[in-house]
Formats: sequence, C-alpha cells, structure tokens
Amino acid sequence: MSLTPRPSKHMPDAEIYNRMESRVRSYCNALPRQFTRAQGAWMYDDQGGRYLDFLAGCSSLNYGHNHPVLKQALLDYIGRDGVAMSLDLFTEAKAAFLETLESVILKPRGLDYKAMFTGPTGTNAVEAALKLARKVTGRRHVIAFTNGFHGMTLGALACTGNEGKRNGAGVPLADVSHEAYDGYFGPDVDTAAQLERRLADGSSGLDAPAAILVETVQGEGGLNAGSFAWLRRIAAIAKRHGALLIVDDIQAGCGRTGHFFSFESAGIVPDIVTMAKSLSGMGLPMALTLFRPELDQWKPGEHNGTFRGNNHAFITAAAALEHFWKDGNFAATVRARGTLLQTRLESMAERYALTTCGRGMMRGINAGSGERAEMITRACFRDGLIIETSGADDEIVKVLAPLTITEDELNMGLDILENALNAAMAAQFRVAAE
Ligand SMILES: *Cc1c(COP(=O)(O)O)cnc(C)c1O
Repeated sequence: MSLTPRPSKHMPDAEIYNRMESRVRSYCNALPRQFTRAQGAWMYDDQGGRYLDFLAGCSSLNYGHNHPVLKQALLDYIGRDGVAMSLDLFTEAKAAFLETLESVILKPRGLDYKAMFTGPTGTNAVEAALKLARKVTGRRHVIAFTNGFHGMTLGALACTGNEGKRNGAGVPLADVSHEAYDGYFGPDVDTAAQLERRLADGSSGLDAPAAILVETVQGEGGLNAGSFAWLRRIAAIAKRHGALLIVDDIQAGCGRTGHFFSFESAGIVPDIVTMAKSLSGMGLPMALTLFRPELDQWKPGEHNGTFRGNNHAFITAAAALEHFWKDGNFAATVRARGTLLQTRLESMAERYALTTCGRGMMRGINAGSGERAEMITRACFRDGLIIETSGADDEIVKVLAPLTITEDELNMGLDILENALNAAMAAQFRVAAE
C-alpha cells in the first residue's frame, strides 16, 4: 500500500475545546486538526486528511501507532477479562513483564537492576529517583545540567532548565544546580573538567551532591548529544564524589538512539535509570525506576501511587520487548534508519550553513531561530507532516519518527521537510533583498 500525505484544509470546530479545555494545552495549537485514527507512522483526521507522524507522541510511540502485535496482545488480554488495574498487587501480567525485562533486556546486557513501578508518568519516575538518591546518600544537593528536561512536578522541575517551565512552579525550586552540559560553551570548553574542579574544591560553593542527573541526548532541551567520552567522565566524577549517577532515559531510551538503553554505547552503567514514554510500547502510561539492588532501601509504601499497576501497559510492554528486542535485528534497523536520517539532515543543513544535532533516530536541524523553525514546521504540517521543535528558543526542528518507519516513509517525510526548509530560506533571502 503506497500512501502519500493528504492534509485537510479544514480547521476543526474548536468550540468545545475553547469552551471547556484549559489554555494550558499546547501541541494542538500548532497542529489544529481533530484526529480520529492512527496506524504505524500515520495519523488521520476527521476531514479525510492523513499525516506522517514525525512527533510520535514525543518518542512515546517508538513502535508506531497501534502496532498489530501489541494491539493483539492487549485485545487478547482484555478479551479474557485480565486484571486491568491492580495497585501493586502481584498479577500474571506484572510477573510476565518483569520476567521479560530480566531475560530480554537486563541479563543479556549484564545489568543487575531492581525495578520500581512508580506512578505512570516520567516525572514520577524522576521524583522516585531523586528521593532514593537523597535518602541513600543523606545529601540534599543534586546536579543537573543546562537545558535538561526531567518533568513538571516540583522535584523534577527543579532539575529542568527551561525558564518557561520553571516559572509555572510558583514556589522556589531548590537544592539543584545546573552545571554546563557537554558543548554548552562551545567545542573548546571542557565542561566535565569544570565540574570536577568545582566538586574537588571545598571552597567552590558547590555542595556535595546526592546525584548527578543526566540525559545522554537532551530530548526537549535541543537534542544536544553528550559525547561518549564526556558521559564516561561524568560517570567517573559521580563515583569519585560519592554521588549516584541517574540517567534519565525517558526519551532517549527504548531504542531511540539505536540501542535499548541510550547509555549502552557510552559504556557506562548508571546507578539509577528512569524510563517511561515508549516503555509500554503502545502509548499507555507506565514508568519505571531501575536501580542497583544495594540501593533498594525503601520502606514499604514510602513512595507509592495508585496507578502503579497498569496491567494493560505491562502486557504491551512485555510484548514489545519480546517482539523487538529478543535479537539485534530491530536495533540494527534503527541504526540504519538513523544513518539515513543523519545523511539527509546534513545535506539539507550544509546548503544553508546550518548545523544538525542528536543521535540515532533522535536528530534535528538547527534552523537558526525559533521563528524560522516555526515557519518550517508550519509548512511541513500544510504538506501533511507532523513535526515539532525543541531547544531553548524552539530553534531545533526535531525528527522523532517512529523507529518502525519504513525507509520510503522516512524519505517521504524528509522530502517534505527539505521543501519546507528551502521555502523558508528562500523567503528570508527575499526579505533580505528587499
Ligand atoms: C518527557 C520526559 C520526562 C517527563 O515525562 P512525563 O511522562 O511527561 O512526566 C522526563 N524526562 C525526560 C528526558 C523526558 O523526555
């Protein structure tokens, strides 16, 4: 079946949304259609429009929309009245997920982690990680990084860099400092050396940290990819200074960079790992905090939450691990798609002396300004491509296509992006010439 995007021209009747839904909504402002159906890399609206999805639920749909294997597993489970919601009770579905996580993911990678089901959002997995690190070390201070994004509840928000997000807190966001991420001051400044110096110096004013919290590739913060060497040095610094290394793999994990965990190719083993977004594989809410067994110093119920037993998510998560991760074929395909993506983005960027960023299948093009990036994403949407921006000034046009996308579909979307970029650059040259 060969599809091409066919965007509809009609705006939905937004009356119900304007009347009833808070103004806090945001993605829908840039993508004003009413969607009805989604399959694979495609979304369909109620006017007959169809769109290629290069947003993929912000990387919460790495296996595309309604993957047939995951969907069937869930339909079967519901069909036999499987337990839907179970707090933290033992269920067949939870056992199956834990066994699959252990045998398909952790054991083959030589990783020994305990799994903690938190409330079902990424930010809750981060809250649990922060609480645990502070509890185990007896320290308060946490080191996060410039442009880091870790969620919107107060503890995770304190670790988030973005001013607009932080301003929503309404209370002081304390006990976190934001050190410079790799490349923050340009390629010639060694930010790991700066951090080491500040931590080693008892008069630097930097308190001994409970944890260093890092994304290997900063998803919301502009697709900055920490080099493997830098990540290894951050891991060593954490160890040397008695801090726990937390890798927030909520966006970069679940295969997005070409390996199940984004830190695998850096050769580091975090003390704590947070996961959410694509973990359930089908967009169902589910989050997990993994940590070294010795760190499991929780008292029963010390961090809990009603929705820690989303069995529908356990079913699809186990099916996803089983289907995609039992051997290396899927990861190899993801890396091949990532290379294609990189090649095409670089050739687009070169033409206009722009730069690219990211790793694997989370890559983008720095449009130079938020205004130009928006011009590009708007033009893409008019041509049937759903694509968003990221970065401090929303200047990065970010490709987060499903990892299951075919080569033809990926090229089709990138053709649309290329046309939009060419048009945006031509429009600016016209303005400049006038
Ligand atoms: C999305 C995200 C979060 C927050 O997850 P939610 O489910 O939105 O709470 C945390 N960290 C990273 C790296 C993310 O991309």
